[in-house]
Amino acid sequence: MALMTGAEYIESLRKLNTRVYMFGEKIDNWVDHPMIRPSINCVAQTYELAQDPQHEDLMTATSHLTGRKINRFANIHQSTDDLRKKVKMQRLLGQKTASCFQRCVGMDAFNAVYSTTYEIDQKYGTQYHENFKKFLIYIQDNDLVVDGAMTDPKGDRSRAPHAQDDADLFVRIKERRPDGIVVRGAKCHQTGSVNSHWHIVMPTIAMGPDDKDYAVCFACPSDAEGMYMIYGRQSCDTRKLEEGADIDLGNSKYGGQEALVVFDDVFIPNEYIFMAGEYDFAGMLVERFAGFHRQSYGGCKVGVGDVVIGAAALAAEYNGVEKASAVKDKLIEMTHLNETLYCCGIACSSEGHPTASGSYIIDLLLANVCKQNVTRFPYEIVRLAEDIAGGLMVTMPSEKDFKSDTVVGRNGETIGEICNKFFVGNGKCTTEERMRVMRFLENICLGAAAVGYRTESMHGAGSPQAQRIMIARQGNIQGKKQLAKDIIGIR
Ligand code: SF4
Ligand code: FE
Repeated sequence: MALMTGAEYIESLRKLNTRVYMFGEKIDNWVDHPMIRPSINCVAQTYELAQDPQHEDLMTATSHLTGRKINRFANIHQSTDDLRKKVKMQRLLGQKTASCFQRCVGMDAFNAVYSTTYEIDQKYGTQYHENFKKFLIYIQDNDLVVDGAMTDPKGDRSRAPHAQDDADLFVRIKERRPDGIVVRGAKCHQTGSVNSHWHIVMPTIAMGPDDKDYAVCFACPSDAEGMYMIYGRQSCDTRKLEEGADIDLGNSKYGGQEALVVFDDVFIPNEYIFMAGEYDFAGMLVERFAGFHRQSYGGCKVGVGDVVIGAAALAAEYNGVEKASAVKDKLIEMTHLNETLYCCGIACSSEGHPTASGSYIIDLLLANVCKQNVTRFPYEIVRLAEDIAGGLMVTMPSEKDFKSDTVVGRNGETIGEICNKFFVGNGKCTTEERMRVMRFLENICLGAAAVGYRTESMHGAGSPQAQRIMIARQGNIQGKKQLAKDIIGIR
């Protein structure tokens, strides 16, 4: 099958019977729901850009399994060049959407599961890798979106999965049957789950023998029986429900999406199982998925950062301060921080190496350093953007005021005329243009898009401490001590 267009992708979602709930109610037509649609448009861009000959090299790849052309989001990395192109593709999409485009979690799950199942089979003689390859060919050939679901609710963080008061706080095998397993539990803050055709579920932490039933990895369609999603709120999300909402949204076309995904006794046939009890491989799968997603942030957040820097520069220009040396220096600092993140994304890709399966993986230390920086630099970038923009980004009247015909002035001026008079900028832009820039910055710094640019930078792909644990493990302090001893002359 040929790669889908963005419009075909959106139509394909209508055929799913995914159960979605929001504000306590079932949403039947979630594809056209004003709060959900921007996130669907965003995923659609991963299809649209793949159709554009200009972006073909980044957006598509050749399947190593079939030799057919596929979307790069379904690719198994075959070289460090593939790893770098992945990051470049993500930067491009961040630039085009200024949002989380959601499809990377599936790509990162494919690569983690592909390499890990190969090693499980080597040790235990299981069939997981073959199962996974068949599944992946189906996904590649049909150009589908898959949600990579890792984060369990986790309950009391000091206790292992099997030791929780409620057995469902980590996804588990509830029943084993000759033809498959029945799974129960939930995955939290799942990026793009509603917009995905399928889900790949993985364990969330390294596990011991008592957690055998929790060491489970499988694929299931998003509308599998027993599965449902409860949509996550975002700051200022109900602005999207306002009539004629546009400027006040900051980014009316695109957005991200997260949901709670519940598995209420879902049957998984044998062919879609990629791990079922091999607890000693849970840690490897988690480490690889997290590593790939930490690399991802060196692409996607950089692309969004490019737009933030551009918007801050526009705000300065519209305010007539673009020549001030302090403003120029802030833009330089923002660029420096953003490109540092990109350096990390490219570096961990360039230093990648083949796994036992032959697929390529990033350098884990550098990928964790990448994500650690992402937990900090976007915060400094938005701080500087807010500094440059000025307080107007959070005090400005609404779009409806700017367009209002209601008379308020002594001489018959309307609310719209008054707003336009007092919020004028340097005279080279319209007040509407100035307003659009301010609302964009409001959205990205503390509105709906702040989920993707700020808090997701902190907690997505693992919170800062998770990277510090990996950095401690990979940092080779013993080797460094030896270097010091050799130089200093300590035997
Ligand atoms: Fe992709 Fe970035 Fe969103 Fe993760 S946060 S799914 S890497 S766009
Ligand atoms: Fe993310």
